[in-house]
Amino acid sequence: ARAGLWLRHDLRLRSNPALAAAAKLNGAEQPIPALILLCPQQMHEHDWAPIKWDLYYRHLHEFVKSAAAAGIALSIQVIESWQVAPKAVKRFAEQQQLSEVHVNVEYPLHEVRRDRAVKALLEQQGVAWHGHHGNLVVPPVLTTQTGTIYQKFTPFAKAWRQHLREQLGHNGLPFMQPVERRCKVAAAVVPEVDYPRQDSSAWVVGEDAVYQQLQGYIEERVTAYAAERDLPGLDTTSRLSPYWELGMLSPWQAVQQLAQLSPDFPDALDQGPDVWLTELIWREFYQHLMFHVPRLNYGKAFLKHTDAMQWREDADSFQRWCEGRTGFPIVDAGMRQLAAEGWMHNRVRMIVAHFLVKDLLLDWRLGEQFFMRHLIDGSFPANNGGWQWSASTGTDAAPYFRVFNPTLQSEKVDPDGSYIRRWVKELADCPKQHIHAPGKWLKDRKRSDYPQPIVDHKVARERFLAAFKAL
Ligand code: FAD
Repeated sequence: ARAGLWLRHDLRLRSNPALAAAAKLNGAEQPIPALILLCPQQMHEHDWAPIKWDLYYRHLHEFVKSAAAAGIALSIQVIESWQVAPKAVKRFAEQQQLSEVHVNVEYPLHEVRRDRAVKALLEQQGVAWHGHHGNLVVPPVLTTQTGTIYQKFTPFAKAWRQHLREQLGHNGLPFMQPVERRCKVAAAVVPEVDYPRQDSSAWVVGEDAVYQQLQGYIEERVTAYAAERDLPGLDTTSRLSPYWELGMLSPWQAVQQLAQLSPDFPDALDQGPDVWLTELIWREFYQHLMFHVPRLNYGKAFLKHTDAMQWREDADSFQRWCEGRTGFPIVDAGMRQLAAEGWMHNRVRMIVAHFLVKDLLLDWRLGEQFFMRHLIDGSFPANNGGWQWSASTGTDAAPYFRVFNPTLQSEKVDPDGSYIRRWVKELADCPKQHIHAPGKWLKDRKRSDYPQPIVDHKVARERFLAAFKAL
């Protein structure tokens, strides 16, 4: 048998079951053939943010070096559409005389369909296809006692932890060592790709550097997570989300780090790491949902009846939301952070999402797409899940009558206004007691450099509640 692999969102030597499986079959002296397909048309269709692509592309340049040193013979090709993928993988298998192709599975519907087509063509040629669950800790196999999928997060998280407990009991941690051959190969050439890029150099790339970031976070900062995670001014969350989305880290590596903190892992963790683990379970929850609920892949609401909602059409308000000119400082700070960094603090993501949907009564899909086009960690399942949660159209979502008051939220999450001042420069000199609702303070000073609020929250809230009740 000669095994190769097709790498997608998993450019890493550690904790990569597809790579480990191919390595095992090939013998230590033999290079492992691996294919990477880059498809600008498909990135465009899936709204890849230029900053996300820049991060992946920079990482790819690092990966070709470490892969060559580890004896992985990469072939990198640019293809014009996903329709071409089956032929390209088949050609690769023929050229390399493979009897098996290994991949780490991807869960959204487009990816499932693409892989099904590739598998069918390979099997026609007598090449076996093996999918591994390398990008989730728990594959989408969890069901309730009555055999249905989990629609609520809390029971899902409980079952997820139980599954992990059993898995660790049986097998321990899988594939954590980097794969390495006893041979080296020449580094592959990274082709030019016609897709826009936005500078991502504030984010490290390269498997080792990313892994160190994770280790450092667990050693030094995760303890404070429970207390500080909702305070965007402190900015003390891990900022690891793009690495999981792009597969430069595997979630098993987080498990490996957390397991060192408790002999009874996943039990008996301190509050900080325990709450952080729960966030990683949210990530998996949304991937499972995307896999099990096809309509989520077609832009539909999880709660079907909410698809009848009459959203407003208001290009001007949407534009002002996008540009961070709503006159609600916490909302504007978040949107400006997104534009500048390609990232936004989780709490603020929730606030701006609530604002778009509930204060402006605009379709959550507009916000979902804008986020994808700008986020460095843009992830179809997590982003869709976050938007539907905020819009009260999702599973286990915020109930519709829970309408965030942007000013009260602002006081709560940014009490001293430091986050707002960092991003909304016009308010740099605004005192703490006015920073969350600076309208009057600005008027008294006859200042028009920062806008007055574009809606009256009380009125907007009633408008939203009435529209939702009518469904
Ligand atoms: P930490 O707080 O350090 O959390 C650790 C990890 O857990 C994250 O890196 C992430 O992988 C995962 N995680 C944390 N919170 C969530 C969550 N609510 N849902 C799913 N996974 C979570 N996350 C994305 O990765 N990509 C997205 O496109 C995305 N879009 C979002 C849109 C909206 C409207 C909302 C409300 C949330 C969205 N999230 C998204 C979830 C969350 O905001 C980010 O994962 C988080 O802010 C990333 O920062 P961090 O790495 O410092 O997270």
